[in-house]
Amino acid sequence: MTLLSIRDLTVYHGQLRAVDGLSLEVERGEILAIIGANGAGKSTLLRAVAGLNPPASGSITLDGTDITRLPAHKRVSAGIALVPEGRRLFRSLTVEENLLAGAYRRRPGAWNLARVHELFPWMADRRGQNAAQLSGGEQQAVAIGRALLSNPALLLIDELSLGLAPVVVRRIYEVLPDIVTAGTTALLVEQDVSQAMRVADRLHCLLEGRSVLRGRPRELTPEQVEHAYFGIG
Ligand code: ATP
Repeated sequence: MTLLSIRDLTVYHGQLRAVDGLSLEVERGEILAIIGANGAGKSTLLRAVAGLNPPASGSITLDGTDITRLPAHKRVSAGIALVPEGRRLFRSLTVEENLLAGAYRRRPGAWNLARVHELFPWMADRRGQNAAQLSGGEQQAVAIGRALLSNPALLLIDELSLGLAPVVVRRIYEVLPDIVTAGTTALLVEQDVSQAMRVADRLHCLLEGRSVLRGRPRELTPEQVEHAYFGIG
């Protein structure tokens, strides 16, 4: 069943068409990864879904409801949570305070502090520590926990592994299937193509704002992915 449907979406930054007539669908219960080179439009697409980059044309539908013009804060209530690039935690607040910030526009659902602690047990032990003292990977995990506390139907994660230690990234990817099993669908932007191929049920490769390749990782050859990524052929 389709959870998110994007149709002919175009988003500009000034004169630049960062997303160019793009269509894609995210099925409920899947992990869909967006890959593509720097500047391909991945972040702009995710931010458009979150309501942060208004589209010039096209539509975004969540669970059959058109949300194209819905302000960002209402999308949280509608079931969309974004883990932004760079995490954006409140650095002077504690781990727990950061997590609870995500419960501000909470929908009913399975996620609460205890369940987030089950995913990342260290967060319980370090609940009183300032976010500024965490490593980048730990901050990423807190940002994901914060997003989960709004009980999203759709979790958007921008550049999940960018600049983070591989061991931490692995741990986050290990819990992603548990998150999906708990009823949250995941749409993520991943810079690391092999990581995306390992974790995603399906992926889309963007090039200059368009989706140029889509499919299940095991059905795509490395050559296809490389050609799409670099725009060869
Ligand atoms: P990256 O991996 O570098 O973040 P990306 O695929 O996420 O790349 P976007 O960040 O969506 O790409 O950027 C798409 C294009 O839009 C790029 O050419 C970028 O320079 C431009 N762009 C992004 N944000 C802005 C902005 N706020 N103002 C102007 N141009 C922007």
